[in-house]
Amino acid sequence: MIQNNDFDVPKIVIVGHVDHGKSSFIGRLLYDIGEIQKEKFGELKKASKKRGEEFEFAFLLDALQDERDQGITIDTTRIFFKTKKRKYVFIDAPGHKEFIRNMITGAASADIAILIVDVKDGIKQQTKKHSYLLKLLGIEKVITLYNKMDKISYSESKFLNIKAELDEFLSNIGIESYTSLPISSKKGDNIVSLSKNMRWYHGQSFVEILDGYKIQENNKSEFIRFPVQDIYKLGDKRVIVGRIESGKIKSGTKLIFLPSNESVYVKTLEVWPKAKKEYEVGDCIGITLSDEIFVDKGNMGSDLERPPKLTNRFESRVFWLSKSKILFNKKYLMKINTGEYEVSINKIKKIIDVESLTEKTKINVQKNDICEVVIHSSELIPMDDYSFNKSTSRFCLLDEKEIVAGGIVDIRNYPDQREYKDNFKQNIVPENYAVSEIDRSIRFNHRPGIVWLTGLSGAGKSTIAKNVEKRLFHKNINIFSLDGDNLRIGLNKNLNFSPEDRTENIRRTAEVANLFTKAGFIVLVSLISPYRSERKKARDIRPEIFREIYIEASVEVCSKRDVKGLYAKAIKGEIKNFTGISSPYEPPEMPNLVINTSRCSVEESVRKLEEYILKEFSF
Ligand code: ADP
Repeated sequence: MIQNNDFDVPKIVIVGHVDHGKSSFIGRLLYDIGEIQKEKFGELKKASKKRGEEFEFAFLLDALQDERDQGITIDTTRIFFKTKKRKYVFIDAPGHKEFIRNMITGAASADIAILIVDVKDGIKQQTKKHSYLLKLLGIEKVITLYNKMDKISYSESKFLNIKAELDEFLSNIGIESYTSLPISSKKGDNIVSLSKNMRWYHGQSFVEILDGYKIQENNKSEFIRFPVQDIYKLGDKRVIVGRIESGKIKSGTKLIFLPSNESVYVKTLEVWPKAKKEYEVGDCIGITLSDEIFVDKGNMGSDLERPPKLTNRFESRVFWLSKSKILFNKKYLMKINTGEYEVSINKIKKIIDVESLTEKTKINVQKNDICEVVIHSSELIPMDDYSFNKSTSRFCLLDEKEIVAGGIVDIRNYPDQREYKDNFKQNIVPENYAVSEIDRSIRFNHRPGIVWLTGLSGAGKSTIAKNVEKRLFHKNINIFSLDGDNLRIGLNKNLNFSPEDRTENIRRTAEVANLFTKAGFIVLVSLISPYRSERKKARDIRPEIFREIYIEASVEVCSKRDVKGLYAKAIKGEIKNFTGISSPYEPPEMPNLVINTSRCSVEESVRKLEEYILKEFSF
């Protein structure tokens, strides 16, 4: 059974530039709330005096860590403490050599983030870098501590100046400063109680702020996310164990598990002691299911209404931690939620300069760079977009055992590859056609087919299709050209260009093409159809007569042609989700034919396709 003991202890991560006072702050806090024995404190003070040094609260932390290293207390990276209200844990020991690396793993599950700035020294590169890192790890709210106020004579105006500067940076990267608190760790100002040295400050002390912090605010998603941690066999019961990342679960809740895509009911809750009827974010629970379905570690349980997308391709913002370069032909291990997948990085889209938040011009990603990449996996992975659910969209990448990157998922531009199971088909019995496809083929003297032209807008799909249609019609071929834009005026007029609508657009077009083949036609489909997975679905409707033709031309060539003036608009940002500019295009991996229109003339391109069709579909 699962015991709810330390699971709900809020986890705190503290970040900031080196020497801005992370250790002293923790040392002072522990001392002021009475976690440090008086004797220990006395001993340390005496030792400093002996060495002729002024006592620093950072020593306290060092001393505690030394003891840990000798195995006296728990582990090296966690420091527990208790206020009058509740227990907390710092999940990273500042000053640790591989600090950022720990942040990637540690902060990934932090409930509260603290950013500390030295008011004398000002905002430094690491202040910005670490803030950016927090954002990357899905933390959008920080408690900002303005430390060493004693060094600027507790000046309110100086505090306000630096606060304005930091607030501006934070809001530019999308982080909210939950509270801005002026403190001095050295003197103990505003840590446990309000200091007389800053009467102009009318807020709460640090401990009051901490105790009033509502933990679950970090994840507001109401949709269920239950990543499977493990499966236990208890007698003849199969208990699925995990931590609820969002939403609520009780007995009777309907869940769908991905990637198996099967739905079940929660039969029983296996939690000890059973404190509640319904469990929620942060709760670790075990459940049994109404049916025996295949569920494994790493799978994701969710509600049926809004499950994660299943995808094998996504974009991501990552923090690159390794000295080695990103290698495109290398396999990395991706850990996301409780799952592990083999992935490769296909493309570096952007490298971001943390100082100026602008795009860097260099090509290679170096250690501690932040960049946007496209990641590919051979398996389908259940994934949420970062803007939808922060706690289930963070991951890290490993090379062997080394963590090389941490990042967040951006799948806004990618379609859901999950097969929708519906029950509507139950009472539908298809009629057989009175005239068969073979009868029609014999009369028309050719077989039916779907010739699917994919490529960027302006690559030449419509031009080639129109010309081929004309020429083959004069050769007595029953041919019809279905154009994406034309379908969008009628049948598909309720669809826009979001990944979901593009998917539906392709599905409908493929079904219409299929109907035409039943009538004996060869159908030319001109549709950008940017996603491999969707073109595969179209192929799967009639694989034996489906041919994929890649009309190839680069974004540069197409935007130069700009037949419809759309590229100019897209580059100005006037069109959202424009393929090649603000939405991805995945070229076919194994097309039946490639026509490169930047190398061939229209005449040559048309002839090539005409010959191919005659060869493929003639008797
Ligand atoms: P799409 O249907 O792929 O959006 P269009 O057929 O509307 O593209 O536009 C393609 C443009 O490229 C036309 O202006 C066409 O004249 C030009 N073009 C240049 N070379 C070729 C070629 N080899 N094949 C087809 N079109 C070409």
